[in-house]
Amino acid sequence: MTVFLRNYLSAAWQPEGEIGSILRDPVTGAELATVGGRAQGLEAGFAFARTHGRQALQQKTYGERAAMLGEIVKVLQANRDAYYEIALANSGTTKADSGVDIEGAIFTLNYFAKLGGSLGDARVLLDGAPASLSKDQLFQSQHMLTPVRGLALFINAFNFPAWGLWEKAAPALLSGVPVVVKPATVTAWLTHRMVADVVEAGILPPGALSIVCGSSAGLVDSLGTFDVLSFTGSAQTGATIRSHDAVVRHSVKTNIEADSLNASILGEDAGPGTPSFDAYVSELVREITTKSGQRCTAVRRALVPQRYYEAVAGAVADKLSGISVGNPRNPDVRMGALVGREQYDAVKEGTAFLQREARVLFDGNRNPLVDADPAVAACLGPTLLGVHDGDQASLVHDHEVFGPLSTLLGYRDQAHAVALAHRGLGSLVTSVFSADEPWLAATALALAGSNGRVHTVTPEVARTQTGHGNVMPASIHGGPGRAGGGEELGGLRGLSFYHRRTALQGSAATLQKLGPTATLQY
Ligand code: NAP
Repeated sequence: MTVFLRNYLSAAWQPEGEIGSILRDPVTGAELATVGGRAQGLEAGFAFARTHGRQALQQKTYGERAAMLGEIVKVLQANRDAYYEIALANSGTTKADSGVDIEGAIFTLNYFAKLGGSLGDARVLLDGAPASLSKDQLFQSQHMLTPVRGLALFINAFNFPAWGLWEKAAPALLSGVPVVVKPATVTAWLTHRMVADVVEAGILPPGALSIVCGSSAGLVDSLGTFDVLSFTGSAQTGATIRSHDAVVRHSVKTNIEADSLNASILGEDAGPGTPSFDAYVSELVREITTKSGQRCTAVRRALVPQRYYEAVAGAVADKLSGISVGNPRNPDVRMGALVGREQYDAVKEGTAFLQREARVLFDGNRNPLVDADPAVAACLGPTLLGVHDGDQASLVHDHEVFGPLSTLLGYRDQAHAVALAHRGLGSLVTSVFSADEPWLAATALALAGSNGRVHTVTPEVARTQTGHGNVMPASIHGGPGRAGGGEELGGLRGLSFYHRRTALQGSAATLQKLGPTATLQY
């Protein structure tokens, strides 16, 4: 019997409604769980979160809320095995790929638990030092951050059901803001199970954490003036949400993380046989295959000097040919499934679209799947496409294929590489591999304007670097333009979205009466 993922609103599990959608195993097609249609009790649930949840959270200090995050970490750690089982069944991922999501979630929560602990008994965050507004210095202005007076609604993408919840919920709860999460339907089970475990543990006050599974109907309509909305998903849905009547009418603070055509650049000095060349090739293979390329940060455009184009193509193809694809229950399988057959069709269609201008340099679909029926399983082999003269490609700068695919593009010189990277019109991340530090620094600076993160790798840090696609909680995540214009994480910077910045003007003596404060130091 499959489980019905009930909504949790107003601190109560809501009755099962009509079945809206079915969640399936993307490898076998087996039915796993069901979710409902339009949620009942949204208005009341949101009101409960804004009053009971928010007040209870905001009565606590940052240190007390950080301690609650620490308790959530323990609950997630205790239930880890169940999460891996759900990810295997519902996302079709290998243990390593499930770990990217599950361990990433626990790591990020733990990071904010520790960071929040450093804010101690503060209830207000001071933003910078006071500025004098009068000649006698007595009348001053102090910028301060106080938690928003509403709730935080998260509308999440399918590819990170665990990390996608906690990378947003950790800074929100630490800030004292109640959370309502709406996971993407197709992989909602893992998010639901984690919320259920945390609810059962009784760590958070009633109303601090709610979940709505299934239909998104009515969610954005229920937002009010002081709520905030964080969306992760496709640019198309992002645009719909950004222009939603309730968002516009109430000036709802909105963060959007959307599609991104990220790039990686091989330095002009990094020919075959150099450590930078090897590091670049390994990283590109990792980016194509991790979570079957279903990461928003994955390298979609691999920019290499034209003179090394063939050498890179050969080295990447060689490594990709060793990747076995199929049922992740088989220990020999290195790459599991896409999230479902719909995504499988979209990736095939997108690959064919890019082939209008790109050649196939490696096609992993020639090899048979391991323990999986190709007529049923959403499994696709890794693919490398290529265009020797980067100027001859345009679709690749415009169309995100959310699967195990990257396109090699040849560049002439540094300025050409940077110009090609900018053609993504705003990316989450670009990585650059070289042993030439001045060249790396100049390239990074030139890339900064169109990237949320620039990841530079010299041979010295090749072993310890955290990976092109890995989002570290100490660094910001988000990007301009096509990437949605959002910004998350970045240590304590991640808290600012959940706070209101106010300029408090008054006498120096009045400003000193704010009670326990912490000054933001990044
Ligand atoms: P999606 O189809 O846009 O869905 C994202 C979320 O929006 C889901 O929870 C979906 O619910 C919900 N939704 C759909 N229509 C809605 C509406 N009209 N109002 C409110 N909510 C609505 O995206 P996806 O297919 O899940 O995710 C893949 C995309 O996400 C890729 O393009 C990827 O680049 C992007 N992504 C970006 C980041 C980042 O950090 N920048 C991270 C991960 C993924 P249902 O599932 O119920 O339809």
